[in-house]
Amino acid sequence: MNWTDRSRIESYQVCPRLRWWGYEWGRTDEEIGGLEPELARLELEIGSGVHAGVAALLTYAKRHGLTDPVIEDAVALGTAAFAVETARGIALPQSLTPEAVEFKRREGAAMVEGMVWLAGLRIVPAILERFEVLEVEREGWASLTPEIRFAYRPDALLREKETGDLYIWSLKTASELYEAEFKRSMQGLSEVWAREQDNLEHDHDSHDPPKRIMGVQMCFILKGRKHEDKVRGCKVHYSPLTRAFLRDDGITHEWAWSWDVPKTNYKTGEEYVGKLGANFRAAPTWQYPGGVGEWVKALHRGEIQPECGDPFGKVWATPEPYFRSDLETVSWLRQVRVQEEAIVDNAAEVNQLEGLEREVALDELFPQEAKWTRGCYLYPGVECEMVPICLTPCDDPLSRGFRRRRANHPQEAGG
Ligand code: SF4
Repeated sequence: MNWTDRSRIESYQVCPRLRWWGYEWGRTDEEIGGLEPELARLELEIGSGVHAGVAALLTYAKRHGLTDPVIEDAVALGTAAFAVETARGIALPQSLTPEAVEFKRREGAAMVEGMVWLAGLRIVPAILERFEVLEVEREGWASLTPEIRFAYRPDALLREKETGDLYIWSLKTASELYEAEFKRSMQGLSEVWAREQDNLEHDHDSHDPPKRIMGVQMCFILKGRKHEDKVRGCKVHYSPLTRAFLRDDGITHEWAWSWDVPKTNYKTGEEYVGKLGANFRAAPTWQYPGGVGEWVKALHRGEIQPECGDPFGKVWATPEPYFRSDLETVSWLRQVRVQEEAIVDNAAEVNQLEGLEREVALDELFPQEAKWTRGCYLYPGVECEMVPICLTPCDDPLSRGFRRRRANHPQEAGG
């Protein structure tokens, strides 16, 4: 059976060669295809850790409600997932010093910890106020064509208490919020279609099948822009979850989360936004007494610079739901069915070839589109991870720091 999912459909649309390397290279009837870098990708592992922690929060909350010990358990799960994946090493610029690499690892762990605490204190309670949680990270699949299965795993399925309407809930960790991107995102179509189709195809003991799902409620937790830190020699996220300010005169310690502070001109009485002052310096939140969790709890209780407003105001956002459109869904299905059927045939053909014949077939069937259109930068400042094997001839990518891809969905590994 052939499997696909949203990530691999999108990878083809970003760059067909990325789809080849990431999902089709070396595919046989017995083994799943694709390669991934041996070293962990920091941003990806932060996202995975946060998803693990938030999934635990939603599951626990569904059964027991939310208390600090429950959040602590979820934080431990999230940070453990991050630690396990990054233990094999992290892909970072070779120019970084060992101290800078360690700082980035510590910042990543703190980001996971801070985000899961934030989810436990603010985000999940806001969800529970309006919705009932029906499912959390439930694996499923639906037939895209008779020969291709679409695997999916929505973060949650929610039922609005007031209306009974169903929504897919989708969590994203990102540096910044790009509204246009999620408003036209495939996710608003694919997971809604797949969840309903799954109900029609399989006999689940699920909720009011085949009740219509109204759309996707996205939730963004933002890591903040990265800025060069000249002292550490690396880029750091400007986020109140991980980066605070400390005034330490040897006797007293004063912590702050905002560099901008409201002030009043003592002569005119005029109010203006001023700066904290030179006696403060940037300090990582894991140095706060009790660590990141205590820091986030103190911010949540409004104990630190309450005059500066909500410290989490720019850290998370839940835009209006993306409501489904049947016309759009039908059009999307037409497009991806043709795309995915062609990829099955094309990948089988290239995988049988060797040498120059293979190179020619790859150029024709999986062109290096993003090489020519965006210089292999998939996002501003983010270079494609396949550069080491894609831009210079490479017969054996497994000897260049890559390994076979791990299955994204367990059902794919099973057949
Ligand atoms: S290195 Fe460039 S051409 Fe190759 S897969 Fe990545 S984006 Fe595409």
